[in-house]
Amino acid sequence: MQVAPIPDLDPEINAVREGTANIVNRYIIPNEDRLRDWGNPDVQRLRHEIQETVKKAGLWAPHLPKEYGGMGIGFMKHAYMNEILAWSPFSNPLFGVVAPDSGNQTILLKYGTEEQKKKWLEPSIRGEIRSCFSMTEPDAPGSNPYAIQTRAVRDGDDWVINGRKWFTSGAKGSAFAIVMCRTEEADGAGGTREKMTQIIVPTDTPGFNIVRSIPVWGHDSNHCEIEYKNVRVPVTNQLGRTGTGHQAAQDRLGAGRVFHCMNCVGQMWRAFDLMVRRAMDREVHGGKLETKQFIQGFIADSYIDIQAARLMTIHAAQVIDRATSDPRTDISAIKIFVPAALERVVDRAIQVHGAMGVSGDTPLAGMYTGARTLRIADGPDEVHRILISKLILKQYHDGGSWDFGVN
Ligand SMILES: Cc1cc2nc3c(=O)[nH]c(=O)nc-3n(C[C@H](O)[C@H](O)[C@H](O)COP(=O)(O)OP(=O)(O)OC[C@H]3O[C@@H](n4cnc5c(N)ncnc54)[C@H](O)[C@@H]3O)c2cc1C
Repeated sequence: MQVAPIPDLDPEINAVREGTANIVNRYIIPNEDRLRDWGNPDVQRLRHEIQETVKKAGLWAPHLPKEYGGMGIGFMKHAYMNEILAWSPFSNPLFGVVAPDSGNQTILLKYGTEEQKKKWLEPSIRGEIRSCFSMTEPDAPGSNPYAIQTRAVRDGDDWVINGRKWFTSGAKGSAFAIVMCRTEEADGAGGTREKMTQIIVPTDTPGFNIVRSIPVWGHDSNHCEIEYKNVRVPVTNQLGRTGTGHQAAQDRLGAGRVFHCMNCVGQMWRAFDLMVRRAMDREVHGGKLETKQFIQGFIADSYIDIQAARLMTIHAAQVIDRATSDPRTDISAIKIFVPAALERVVDRAIQVHGAMGVSGDTPLAGMYTGARTLRIADGPDEVHRILISKLILKQYHDGGSWDFGVN
């Protein structure tokens, strides 16, 4: 991967990008075949060595503030770092970013009490425990976060939770789950209303039952279906005020979507690089692939996809960072465009590689299923399309129009 300083970009961001590329190029990409063998003791040693190199370079945990052992670099630098990290599917955990723990850590930092931080956040950051996020349900549409049926009812100083979740990633082996629940609160007029509240549930609590791991793309996974049956936890396990669960989920997903999209850009960049090199090497029908117009079209279309996706994502990140206008239109736009662009670029790269493209000899097959999955996870495309048009139409109905320079 070739990463030179970007003119006009904050020198600190350039330094982070170059430092990250140096480690990904020297220690991760050449070891990808070995790193796949995750449980092997030699590979565990290698992982530890790379993690120490990352720490020495001051590039550990970009999502965490300095007082929690992270880089404390804030949102924009982390976004720019992600396109470099994404060159290898192995980078993120080697740089201290493990999903869904990183998202849970961010939420605990923002909404957790001091006691919750001590009990759950700090051991999670030290890597002593893992965690999961349990929101989506088999019997309610995940694309409508208000449809959740899992209910927490107050009983003295406890919450008692009943419901069923699925696709809770990483549930097996987790010490706790952050569970999105429907709760009742006073409406200020003598009645009650229902809102969402996130509650920390230790996985050894009676009634927390993992029903099964759900195979994904034909492979075993750790995305689990979980029954919550009379799960009793103290009210002190609640995150933030009662009824703030939806806002906390938005906080997690908003910035997270930019990180995911920068991650997609990095993957596209790698797929593009593999495709161009293969086109230059592979001889078919009396000439290199690069001499065939079909393949030249693949290269050109992929360049266009990557540039468009990258600039759109950086624009969305800038809108969030400026905090002077509502970023939701741009966040939804990238959430639709970028994974679809990744799918197109990887599809072309696979085609150029022939059978090798669907094998395990390149990261392309994993990128392809990941891209397809992203069009559903974190909110399906259709829901984001609805939100974009709603926000634009509202602006027009309010007497304004859309200013592409500012909005
Ligand atoms: C690999 C993977 C990992 C995941 N990890 C987690 C996790 O860790 N924790 C967690 O809580 N969840 C997780 N999820 C769940 C994910 O967030 C949901 O799948 C997603 O929110 C969509 O919800 P759903 O599957 O219930 O789809 P549904 O809501 O049933 O929607 C199905 C389809 O209906 C269409 N649709 C929906 N609404 C509209 C509309 N208004 N108009 C037109 N069409 C519409 C869309 O095409 C959509 O794809 C994961 C999912 C996957 C695939």
